[in-house]
Amino acid sequence: MGKIVSTTAFADYSMPDEQGRFGKYGGRFVPETLVPALDDVTSAYLEFKEDPSFRAEYEYLLRTYVGRPSPVTHAKRLSDHLGGAQIYLKREDLLHTGAHKINNALGQALIAKRMGKKRIIAETGAGQHGVATATACALLGLDCIIYMGTVDMARQEPNVFRMRLLGADVRPVSSGTKTLKDAVNEAIRDWVTNVGDTYYIIGSALGPHPYPVMCRDFQSVIGIEAREQMLERVGRLPDEVLACVGGGSNAIGAFFAFLADPVRLVGVEAGGLGVTSGKHAIRFTDPGPERKISGKLGVFQGMKTRVLQNADGQIAETHSVSAGLDYAGIGPEHVYLHDIDRVHFTSVTDDEAMAAFHTLCRMEGIIPALESSHAVAEAIKRAPTMAASQILLVNLSGRGDKDLNTVMSAMPSA
Ligand SMILES: *Cc1c(COP(=O)(O)O)cnc(C)c1O
Repeated sequence: MGKIVSTTAFADYSMPDEQGRFGKYGGRFVPETLVPALDDVTSAYLEFKEDPSFRAEYEYLLRTYVGRPSPVTHAKRLSDHLGGAQIYLKREDLLHTGAHKINNALGQALIAKRMGKKRIIAETGAGQHGVATATACALLGLDCIIYMGTVDMARQEPNVFRMRLLGADVRPVSSGTKTLKDAVNEAIRDWVTNVGDTYYIIGSALGPHPYPVMCRDFQSVIGIEAREQMLERVGRLPDEVLACVGGGSNAIGAFFAFLADPVRLVGVEAGGLGVTSGKHAIRFTDPGPERKISGKLGVFQGMKTRVLQNADGQIAETHSVSAGLDYAGIGPEHVYLHDIDRVHFTSVTDDEAMAAFHTLCRMEGIIPALESSHAVAEAIKRAPTMAASQILLVNLSGRGDKDLNTVMSAMPSA
């Protein structure tokens, strides 16, 4: 348990290629000055992931600090209530800091430390990746600088406070829209200037090579554990695995161990106010007369991928009730897996996610993150169409404590 899966773990799947391309997606689209830094990270990563002492240290911390393995819970009351497939939940919500993001932040912080970098930078939108990074830096004794848009800082005050408690220097970014993409620009500017002693931790399976593959490998512990746990518990694999997709890290982490199995894999995007509203984050929406925004091939944040754009080809403003899914781009591996028909994508609206949130609270005593509630909502739709002997495994990526204000303000004041 807690192993880092190698990229060649599956005979028929050795993505990405040496340039970091998953089919025609991914790669590296960055200023020339960053290429040597990315080359350094790539060779360090390739070396350490095969290094028994690195793996032992990472696995030790996953077990004794992060709280792995996370359990798989049979959502029996919910399954009985729906009268169809059995729903099982992979409980990433029970991890330290409350979500899967720590798997990746800690893995990359360990790489940085072994590379001799003493200064960590990251950017954060909702603050979850910032908190995970600040946590890993406190644990390993690394300096931590987090760039965050001032609009996001105001919206996510408790997470700003958490990061500061953990010793991070949270730097306000007040350029542009004062949100995540401006914070990304600041982080890149910092990296270019301080590349000698600084490591940049990216929070999802996206960005320039090697970040998408590195993040996938650190998150793949989710599916490796869940696969073993299902075999041990029920003696067979689930029929489907479902996960919400923001940048795509919890989903690829949950899916990766199942890629070679006859298991249906389903990514759930944020449907926001609905596909025709133009207020959503469905990157797998094709252009059409009713579509104000749609997903088109583009270069975005260092990679080639599907990006939500408006009719003029500008990066679209996205919307979701869950901050973690509210993003115009998507990790390149998902686009490849979509194109080869290995992973299926669907979407769930804000209202459906919110209803699933309340259902899980009441039927299972679990308060899920609003992101994870999207995957739960899809399971609630699918289960009644399936037989009671079938199994849906939902990756519950995080807990809902951070979302209580959002949920509270959406409830009718009775
Ligand atoms: C950040 C976040 C997500 C979305 O990010 P991915 O990289 O797509 O996993 C999903 N769930 C939770 C709880 C998160 O914090």
